[in-house]
Amino acid sequence: MGDIWNEALRGLQPRLGSQTFDMWLRPIQLQAVEGDLLRLTAPNRFLKEWFETHYLQSVLDQLRGMTSSDYRVEIEVVSEPLPELVVGAQPEEAQAPPQSFAAPEGLSPRYRFGSFIKGASNEVAASAAMAVAEEPGQRFNPLFIYGGVGLGKTHLLHAVGHALHERDPSQRVVYLSAERFMNEFVTAVRHNRFDQFRARYRDRCDVLLVDDIQFIAGRDRTMDEFFHVFNALYEAGKQIMVTADHEPTDIDGMEERLTSRLNWGLVADIKAPDLETRMAILRQKAENDGLHVSPEVTLLMANLVRSNVRELEGALLRVATFASLKGVPITEDFVREVLKKTGDASAPKVTVEAVQKAVAQYFSVRIADLKGSRRHRGIVRPRQIAMYLSRTLAGASFPDIGLRFGKDHSTVQYACRRIEAMRESDADVKAALSTVRRQLVGEAETAPHA
Ligand code: ADP
Ligand code: MG
Repeated sequence: MGDIWNEALRGLQPRLGSQTFDMWLRPIQLQAVEGDLLRLTAPNRFLKEWFETHYLQSVLDQLRGMTSSDYRVEIEVVSEPLPELVVGAQPEEAQAPPQSFAAPEGLSPRYRFGSFIKGASNEVAASAAMAVAEEPGQRFNPLFIYGGVGLGKTHLLHAVGHALHERDPSQRVVYLSAERFMNEFVTAVRHNRFDQFRARYRDRCDVLLVDDIQFIAGRDRTMDEFFHVFNALYEAGKQIMVTADHEPTDIDGMEERLTSRLNWGLVADIKAPDLETRMAILRQKAENDGLHVSPEVTLLMANLVRSNVRELEGALLRVATFASLKGVPITEDFVREVLKKTGDASAPKVTVEAVQKAVAQYFSVRIADLKGSRRHRGIVRPRQIAMYLSRTLAGASFPDIGLRFGKDHSTVQYACRRIEAMRESDADVKAALSTVRRQLVGEAETAPHA
């Protein structure tokens, strides 16, 4: 059976590329097979969770393709203590009599309100989701949340599911992706099990949570069926919550009558998180995973990775994994090194020139003087600050900065150390850094997306 697992992984390798494969799939190992249960191990919790959210389904699909059977998996973290929240997966529980109220299927134990960081970018969506969890079917029905990938839509959807189930376990919360909805519908029709399908989604359902509804756009019969499900639930006062990549009217191929219904309740968007939110998310993830990440490193990573939260988590995981493989601490240089290799397309294009310009402006000095060799007090400090920011914000190397300031690289190194030392203790330096930084990063942030 170990062979089957390895073969399934190998089958995925061409699609994923060998780097991704080595990083995320290879460390997950099969330990035992018990009926349809595969017992796997992961070297840490972060890898386990990443694997579960991003690759597990593909592996299971691959296995199904090869063996025509469905497997379940249990992943144990071998070197760290298990997280408290492993839903219904303990062997003793498997033997326990079935509970009268089953927990909703398919919800990730990690995606809860407690672990969702609120910020300006997601405030409305998060508050609306909480309101839905407090008073399902009352205030926002349907609740429609949309936004780009990796911004927390699925997280909020699961959080609502958990919260509702915990408040009232007798509520039948049904969660699924629109893709799964379609597959089940097609299967039901093909095998003449339409009654069961209908019962599951129309009658035996108090709350319906559907992820990525854009998937059914253009699929007429599925849209039609969803329309009827929607109507049945809505008329019965049941809560419906839906996510998508665009707002209802902007989903290509979505039926007009469905679009209009999805617009009946509240439509809220989630945007890319701002710097503060990204930092808060990094801090939380690091803490949950027992990683020591300094405030400087947090700031640097939040500056380097801006596109979405999934990328941010991935970056932290890459850094943590490499650091532990190499046995080195997570320093700013190390982070720069690791993230440079993988690259983030949305990384800011803060250049050394931009830093020089902004610093010159802040101190009302000329750029030529920043680059010059005069050493009077009024210019030395701004010059050091400009070098420091060229390093931390623009990510330039010491020799490179030296070249652009007409200094040798040890001078640059010295300047960076000086500013590093004064960064918190000297109020003027602190104020200069934060203003210039905000100006540069703020500008990069409002630049239109590529
Ligand atoms: P989407 O469904 O919008 O593509 P997800 O909900 O899958 O995005 O989020 C991607 C990852 O980022 C998940 O691991 C999720 O927990 C995390 N995440 C997104 N937004 C936040 C947030 N505001 N606070 C904490 N984690 C977040
Ligand atoms: Mg999602």
